[in-house]
Amino acid sequence: MSLPESACEIRAAVAARQVSAVEVCRRALDRIAASDEALHAFLHVDEKRALARAACLDANPPPHAPLLGVPVALKDNICTAGVRTTAGSRVLEHYVPPYSATVVERLLDAGAIVVGKTNCDEFAMGSSTEHSAFGPSRNPWDVERIPGGSSGGSAVAVAASMVPLALGSDTGGSIRQPAALCGVLGLKPTYGRVSRYGLIAFGSSLDQIGPFAHSARDMAAIFGAIAGRDARDATSAADAVPDYTAALSGDIEGLRVGVPRGLLDDGVEPEVRGAFDAALKELQAAGAQLTDVVLPHAPLAIPVYYLVANAEASSNLARFDGVRYGTRAEAASLSEMYYATRGRFGAEVKRRIMIGTFVLSAGYYDAYYVKAQQVRSLIRRDYDEAFTQVDVVAVPTSPTVAFKLGARTADPLQMYLSDVFTAAANLAGLPAISIPSGLTTARLPVGLQLTARPFDEAALLRVADVLERRIVMPRPGGVSI
Ligand code: GLN
Repeated sequence: MSLPESACEIRAAVAARQVSAVEVCRRALDRIAASDEALHAFLHVDEKRALARAACLDANPPPHAPLLGVPVALKDNICTAGVRTTAGSRVLEHYVPPYSATVVERLLDAGAIVVGKTNCDEFAMGSSTEHSAFGPSRNPWDVERIPGGSSGGSAVAVAASMVPLALGSDTGGSIRQPAALCGVLGLKPTYGRVSRYGLIAFGSSLDQIGPFAHSARDMAAIFGAIAGRDARDATSAADAVPDYTAALSGDIEGLRVGVPRGLLDDGVEPEVRGAFDAALKELQAAGAQLTDVVLPHAPLAIPVYYLVANAEASSNLARFDGVRYGTRAEAASLSEMYYATRGRFGAEVKRRIMIGTFVLSAGYYDAYYVKAQQVRSLIRRDYDEAFTQVDVVAVPTSPTVAFKLGARTADPLQMYLSDVFTAAANLAGLPAISIPSGLTTARLPVGLQLTARPFDEAALLRVADVLERRIVMPRPGGVSI
């Protein structure tokens, strides 16, 4: 039997012993070996450990394991016991965590095989992976372009069919934006739906871990495996985890889709707008109803996000001082040691620590941090209001397609504008998904973003499942499957 591509088919074939987990794992490793020199999706590939694990699964397959024998990749800010975890930073270049994140344990319980750790912007701060201390990843649709970020490596690993599934983290768009730019699905769950225990923190009131996949069915399988209460993360919610696969009914008749048209005029590339309008037509053809909605405070999402996220980052990153965490730089005095250790942060991380420390400082706290939190409540209120009329809200995931490497590195504000449509869902704590919605004439992917009510990821997956049959996405050229 030829080896299946999708996670669900792999699971079924391994469970039926039609193919072995070792064969599937070997293929993933071969594909990584063949294309990762060009794409740089991975910072670390754990060939030995992955194959040993696959052999164990073949010898002793756990019953009812929803990801049996499925190779997965993890963003390198998710801790893996005994495996180097750098968060894309020189400061954690030699960090080997003594424990695994809860999501990793849940993936292993589900029968998955972790093949490696993927590249990301340093401490997940960025939209292109160009802020990784270990060099950028490249977009499999055009290697001169960025894959998006910060979870760019995970998006590339799935888009280039190295692995069927990967996890990333999303603080302001870091799963959805690279998913859109690489032509795959990316889900940012409701705040509290997935445990962050073992995720290296960036903005703790915003961070969520979520999956990348090629299909809603595969995404439902991995999402069901990682979601749910975890006593080790006090922010994780106790709400029962529904059967996400059962939610894929293929029926969106009567679904009310809100379109905030007022947000769509500024800075959206014409072909992105065209793909967005075409995706809305497909939703309508499938039985959904389009309604205009207004989100009056949404244009403030970027300034609010960069105040809140940087404030939290400055606090979270204080621990990397060479004493508690981080590789210590030897120096003659204590203060020189701090300077040298923290001097290893990249320029973008330093910029954010400085802005964040400033907005939290006495005298500026009320003007910036408190004000930002107030506007954040208004952003959430806008959505609450919209969800009295509609079930999901639709916008393009990113205003542009993947840009050229280097195009925005000199202008941080340009880079920040990549998140203009994604940051609001984090500020409001809402679930949001990016669904592939076709290619431009230059064959670059465009994504449609849908946001739903808290804990209604099932609605997002249901729509994704319907759309993927109407907008069939090819895989990037050069990837033979
Ligand atoms: N691009 C955004 C930033 O640079 C979002 C990052 C993220 O979601 N981790 O902060």
